[in-house]
Formats: sequence, structure tokens, C-alpha cells
Amino acid sequence: MARYNDAVCRLCRRNGEKLFLKGERCFSPKCAMERRPTPPGQHSTRRRKVSDRGMQLREKQKARQTYGLLERQFRRVYKEAVRRNGATGENLLTMLEMRLDNTVYRAGLAESRAQARQIVLHGHITLNSHKADIPSIEVVSGDKIGWSNRGRRSKFFEMVKQWQGARPVPGWVHVDPASLEGEVIGMPARGEIDARFDENLIIEYYSR
Ligand code: SF4
Repeated sequence: MARYNDAVCRLCRRNGEKLFLKGERCFSPKCAMERRPTPPGQHSTRRRKVSDRGMQLREKQKARQTYGLLERQFRRVYKEAVRRNGATGENLLTMLEMRLDNTVYRAGLAESRAQARQIVLHGHITLNSHKADIPSIEVVSGDKIGWSNRGRRSKFFEMVKQWQGARPVPGWVHVDPASLEGEVIGMPARGEIDARFDENLIIEYYSR
């Protein structure tokens, strides 16, 4: 599977806002948006008028990059959100938020979404006591997230012990601070989703 391998801070600079892709660094003065909050490129300070289509594209890119998806994956999620009953925007947000890698991140078991994805891919996470190494698995209420034996021996487990509790955990996930295991206890409400993008513009982008 192809991945985005360029510097991720460029994505924040391109979007003109922090996407919090690098964990602790995003909150430090080392953050590229603190040091150089201009778009990347040679003529980055040139003012440009953004069209409606440009704004829709920007919102879509922000959402896609925040959750670390490629265009094809993101489009697939969108199509499924359209197919399901209910409001497409809400479906889209819920589906993105309830991905296994994002749930691991939101439960505070990883420093960033990228790291959560890595932890899952390396087989360190279990879902309902079974190994789960596919980041796109969609969790549902009642699902239990734990660590595999390999995961408990990994450097990640030791790291999580240190930073666990530093970030607020949303109400739809419960984490036991002693065992570092989590449980999905509900569905994410719009206010609990920390990603800042306008899902209506994303729908307009794909509706053309
Ligand atoms: Fe974005 Fe984090 Fe890089 Fe800052 S440190 S530019 S918030 S990814």
C-alpha cells in the first residue's frame, strides 16, 4: 500500500493550520507552524484568491491528511458514508473517527494517528482478544481494545505508560489506566471530534 512519505509538517503549512500529525512536537516551539507558518514553496507569501472549489478541496484534504488516508481510501469511505442511512456528513465523521487506528490514538494509546497506525500494523493491538492488524477496521460500541503479548513487550507499551493521561480521552472510549486497555462505550458526538474541518464542504466537493 502506497503511503505519503514527504515531510508531514508541509501538510500543516499548506493548509495554514495545525493538523497535529506529530504528537508532542505539535505542542512545542519546534512545531513548523510556530516557526514558519507560511505555505511551502518558493513564492509562498504571494496572496492568492481561493475559489469555492478551492475551499472545498482544502477541507477535503485537511480531513484526509488528518486521518492519514490516501485519496482512494478516503473516497471509498465517502462512498460508504453516502450509501448508509442518515446524514452523509455525520456518517463520514463517524466512520473516520471509529477506525481502529484512530480509536487507539483517541484512547491515548499512541502519540499520534501515524503512530497508532504503526502500532496496529505491527500486530501490537487486539480487538475483542483477537489480533487486529488492519488500521481501517471500524470499531463498534462494546468492542474491547487490548495489547497482544508482542505489544506488551514492545517499546510502544512502555512509552504509552509514560504519556497516558496527558491527553483528554473522549467520552465514547473508556481506558483503564492500569492495564492500558480500552473499551468503546458509545458513538462519537460532533463536539468530541478534535479534527477541524467542514464536512459539508467535503460533500460539496464530491457531489460535483
Ligand atoms: Fe503540524 Fe505537528 Fe508539524 Fe506542527 S509539528 S506543523 S502541528 S505536524
